[in-house]
Order: sequence, then structure tokens, then C-alpha cells
Amino acid sequence: MYREEDENKEVEAIEEADTEEKESSREERPDASRTKNAGKSDNSEYEDVCFICRRPESKAGKMFKLPNNICVCDECMHRTMDAVSQFDYQGMLNNSQFQKEMDELTRQGGFPNISFVNLADLQGDGGIPNKQKLKKKKKAEKAPALNIRDIPAPHKIKASLDEYVVGQEHAKKVISVAVYNHYKRVATNTMDEIEIEKSNMLMIGPTGCGKTYLVKTLARLLDVPLAIADATSLTEAGYIGDDIESVVSKLLAAADNDVEKAERGIIFIDEIDKIAKKKNTNTRDVSGESVQQGMLKLLEGAEVEVPVGANSKNAMVPLATVNTRNILFICGGAFPDLEDIVKERLTKTASIGFNSELKDKYDKDKNILSKVTVEDIKKFGMIPEFIGRLPIIYTLEGLTKEMMVKILKEPKNAILKQYQKLLELDEVKLEFSDEALEAIAEKAMERDTGARALRSIIEDFMLDIMYEIPKDDNIGRVTITREYIEGKGGPVIDIRGAQIQGIEEKQ
Ligand code: ADP
Repeated sequence: MYREEDENKEVEAIEEADTEEKESSREERPDASRTKNAGKSDNSEYEDVCFICRRPESKAGKMFKLPNNICVCDECMHRTMDAVSQFDYQGMLNNSQFQKEMDELTRQGGFPNISFVNLADLQGDGGIPNKQKLKKKKKAEKAPALNIRDIPAPHKIKASLDEYVVGQEHAKKVISVAVYNHYKRVATNTMDEIEIEKSNMLMIGPTGCGKTYLVKTLARLLDVPLAIADATSLTEAGYIGDDIESVVSKLLAAADNDVEKAERGIIFIDEIDKIAKKKNTNTRDVSGESVQQGMLKLLEGAEVEVPVGANSKNAMVPLATVNTRNILFICGGAFPDLEDIVKERLTKTASIGFNSELKDKYDKDKNILSKVTVEDIKKFGMIPEFIGRLPIIYTLEGLTKEMMVKILKEPKNAILKQYQKLLELDEVKLEFSDEALEAIAEKAMERDTGARALRSIIEDFMLDIMYEIPKDDNIGRVTITREYIEGKGGPVIDIRGAQIQGIEEKQ
């Protein structure tokens, strides 16, 4: 096959092929057909060479022929496709270095038809988007990132949590102490005779009671990176789904690819109860017990190689080694049926002997979950080695109506405060009567999804208000009443200046 002269410059692999022959064949070919025939095979003495790996056809096998005389071997084409499918196009387009190179290529009449291939990747690291670049390890003489004196004392951590999270006093206390100890351990790095055990935690509580919210708030207050993963999406390596180590990869992304920062981060694994051992199954348990097994290494502390800027290992993606020894793992789950297990155990022990108590004594106990033991969790289906690596176990209470009302108005970023701020921009004052808040809480309790229901209920009611208010500049204040929430009336509208009260009937 004939090649353009500058193309010849590119192809180094065939340079050793006798140049004399090349020259003579070039002389022979008629000028007019020079470009026309380019690309067509003419059984010449030249082999196609892969544009990416530079291997000739004899070694790399069949080639894909792209426009502009570019050939790519089967293997490279597949690799490229794999990388393209998980490539961050936005990051690529935003990367100014890459843009420059692409512009240059296009100006030279370069390779417009293969611009989807990350050329910059192939030509060295000049154009790799930041997402795939690793932050350089900082020099050793730098002061330690965590200073033991800077770690806030447990009561301070709890006080900060109080500003955001309503109730859950016990959980907040436990988490504050555990986090304090954990970061003390990280800062002092005492791994000598008295090894301080890692404070990984297991959080048990019904859905929507603030498990994720608590961890998110904590990470924000401590300014450490946080990765939230769902245990249900994890599978043993090699099966469809995210493999277990992908949680570390997420953490690295949250830490802006700074390995040191990631190594001090928090990983929250939600829905951990969904990977309980399945009872009586004959099939291979790829998403239950084996995931627990797979996580043991991570929880304890291990060096894992994770892809940077992607969530699966691939030939085109750089890898980073992250040590999980100082990463705090918090697992959370609702553990349905665990109550029954606790109840069963308690009634069994209580009904033996002379002191036997009434069987239904525990049926009415609302806080039965707080009496949970490691044995109960084992019975639920978590393997002993797994629970052994989560030494701090605590429960969160289900939300009561009073807590819901508080959640609506008290936290620093409470939903009501958010709406009030929005309307304040229109110079309208938004108020909720206490009965209205109770009515919202009652509606939320019916849905059984915890505090998550609050937002959707309020959003329903606020839609009309947010739509109507900006229409009329005279409106100065809106008061939401119980009647409005129950659909029996409208909100109270006060006109600016004059205190005229009018109740709009809700159609
Ligand atoms: P889960 O326990 O299922 O992880 P989340 O933590 O995601 O529930 O809670 C959902 C939302 O409900 C949070 O984003 C938060 O706004 C609110 N919420 C839940 N519990 C509380 C609480 N105790 N205090 C303040 N807000 C809460």
C-alpha cells in the first residue's frame, strides 16, 4: 500500500524495511492515482502498521482501516472502545491542553474522523484530563495533615451535629467519640505495642431516620472526603455490578484524586443488611455472603489498587494504590426483622424459670432495637468476621411526630428555612402555623419513609404558593395553616402595608 510522505514519517516500524525499494516504488506510481489509491490494498510489499501500538499486520492481525490511511489493530480498537465508553467527555472537552492539541490537528487537516479517540492519551500524558491525573504525593517534611490538637473534642463534634441532626442523641454521642478516637489514632499513628483498634461502625435504624444525613454532616464538619456506596450494587469481583474495591475508587474521586486525603476519608456503605447471608440457597451467593467476605480486607486495612477517574480497571486508566488502614468505614442498614430476632431472644431468656415474664412484654417496647447484640446480628445473616470488624454498633430511633416537626424548622438548613429564604428574595414573609407543621408531620408519618416524606409533602403544597405569589407585588406575608394542608381552606395572605386578611379558598 502506498503512503503519503508525511505518513511515512509517522510509521517508524517499517523504516527498516529497505528504503531503496520504497523510493523506487514511489517513483513508479503515477501522481494522479497517488491519493486515490491510498487506502486500497495493492498487495504491495508494505504491511499496514497499527497507528496506536505500532505493530505490523503480521504481528497484530487484521487491521481496521480508518480514513486518512490510518489503521488500527483489532486489539487496540477494542481497548479504545472500552475506554471511550467510560471516558469523561466533559472533562476532556474542558481540558485546555487537549483542546489545543485537537485544534492543531484539525488545522493540519489531521484526523477529523477519529476525533473520538483520545489522541492525547496516546501521545503521552500531556492531555490527560485532570480526572485521570493523580495528585503528587506531598513532600515528607510538610506538617502532618492531621494534628492531634486540631481534632475537635467529642462534645464539640456532637454540638456541631446537634445543629443539623434532630434527636438521635445516643447515636450522635457514640459517633462523636468514635470519630474522635479514630482520628486520634490516625494522627498519632500508634501502631507499636498498644494498637488502637479501628473504630469502624455499624448503624442500625429505620429508613429515613437520618443515617446517611448524620454521616454526611459529620464528613462536612470534619472536612474529610466521603464516599457513599450502596451495598446492594456491590458484587464479588468478576460479576456484573460494582466490585467491592470501587468504593475506594469513589472515595479517591471525592478527595480530588489526592491519595493522602482519601486515606483519611470516610466510606459509608448503606443497605448493609441487604448483603446478609441468604438462608437455604443452593445457588452461589455472589451478592451476599461473598461480598461480606470480600469486604473484610478493606475494613481491616489493605493496600488496594484502584482506577483513577473511572470505576473499572482498564488498560487505558491509570491506577493508584490506596491504603484503607485509616479509612473510617461506617455501615448502615434498616435491618428489618431484626426486631423479631431480638424479641425472640429476650422472651426466651425471660420466660425460663420462676421469674418468667409475660410473653408480649416486649411487643410494646418501641426501643427494642437498642437491645440488639452481636449474636442477633449474626442470626440475621451477617458473618462473624464481618461484624468483628465493625466494633461499634449502635441504633437510631424511628422518628416521632415531635421529631418531624423539629426537623421541619430547627436544623440550620431546615426545609422551612429554605423556603422562607426563597420567598424573602421576593420580599414576602412565609410563616407556618404550629398546627400546620403538625399536620405535615402526621401526613409524613403515614407514609412510613421517615423524614424523607417531609420534603415531598411540603413541595406539593408550596407549588401553588411559589406559582401565585410572584404574580402579585402587593402580597407581603403568607401564612400556611392546618386547613390549607388538610385541603379545607387556603393560606392566609397579608397585603403589604395594610394588614388586610383574606382567606383564599383552595379550589
Ligand atoms: P436514611 O436513614 O434512610 O439514610 P437519610 O439520612 O437519607 O435517611 O434521611 C433523609 C433525609 O431526611 C435527610 O436528607 C434529612 O434531610 C432528613 N432527616 C432524617 N433524619 C433527620 C434528623 N434526625 N434530623 C434532621 N434531618 C433528618
